[in-house]
Amino acid sequence: MLSYRHSFHAGNHADVLKHIVLMLILENLKQKEKGFYYLDTHSGVGLYRLLSAEAQKNAEFETGIGKLWDRDDLPEIVKRYVDMIKKINHNKPQLREYAGSPLIAAQMLREQDRALLMELHPSDYPLLRQNFRQYKNIMTKQDNGFQQVKATLPPKERRGLVLIDPPYELKEDYQLVVNAIIEGYKRFATGTYAIWYPVVRRSYIKRMVKELETTGIRKILQIELAVRPDSDQRGMTASGMIVVNPPWQLESQMKEILPYLNKVLTPEGTGNWKVSWITPE
Ligand code: SAM
Repeated sequence: MLSYRHSFHAGNHADVLKHIVLMLILENLKQKEKGFYYLDTHSGVGLYRLLSAEAQKNAEFETGIGKLWDRDDLPEIVKRYVDMIKKINHNKPQLREYAGSPLIAAQMLREQDRALLMELHPSDYPLLRQNFRQYKNIMTKQDNGFQQVKATLPPKERRGLVLIDPPYELKEDYQLVVNAIIEGYKRFATGTYAIWYPVVRRSYIKRMVKELETTGIRKILQIELAVRPDSDQRGMTASGMIVVNPPWQLESQMKEILPYLNKVLTPEGTGNWKVSWITPE
């Protein structure tokens, strides 16, 4: 069963959080000249047309990138992210296209860096392949992304980021992300791992965090942005990123911008944010 299509959700508040964290981790990796490996286990198609019927259905991008697009008071970090999306839109005034995680990464990768983009969906995979054909250092593959954590780690570069961003259509994804971290860490303990999660039922997140605590892995940071208080009834109320081995600045960078994102993305005042360690150093 693969019914989730990211085109219905691209650019929403959860994508804003995820893609800013992704950008900050990649910026940090680029501080060293030596190349790195980027594995995107659940890539989607990489580029989303916001005027498409799918994106217009619930216009979720209006809850995220749409709220940042015309602002002239963006904090520097948020501005770097919005500028990247503006570049994809050829710096035209209207927001028409949105970058998925593979395209954010593709814009940032240097010659010496390398990426593997995984996507399982039979309709989305050909679009992903097409969108990244021109990049010499980016490979795409239609397969189960979770398995590539085992199959491709450790990378020859011994530096890198694994982004794990499943749809959580199936409840088992909450367990599979923890298993992927365990398997990845066994092979590549110095790598950075970033898991995205939705808050639909708080109990699922609490269980996932507990499981991560019991792995014994140190340095796990949790970052969350809520647009509404927890509820078991109204779909996704918040989203978060769990980062294993985050760059040291990530905690303070997120503490600096989350109050702004909270204010601008949820002007009605129902939102919240947090940055805390699941396990410290
Ligand atoms: N990471 C993307 C981004 O930020 O732009 C969004 C990814 S979307 C949340 C999840 C994607 O995972 C969907 O495109 C879905 O088809 C794909 N998918 C679902 N199960 C998968 C699996 N086991 N392996 C690889 N891709 C999978």
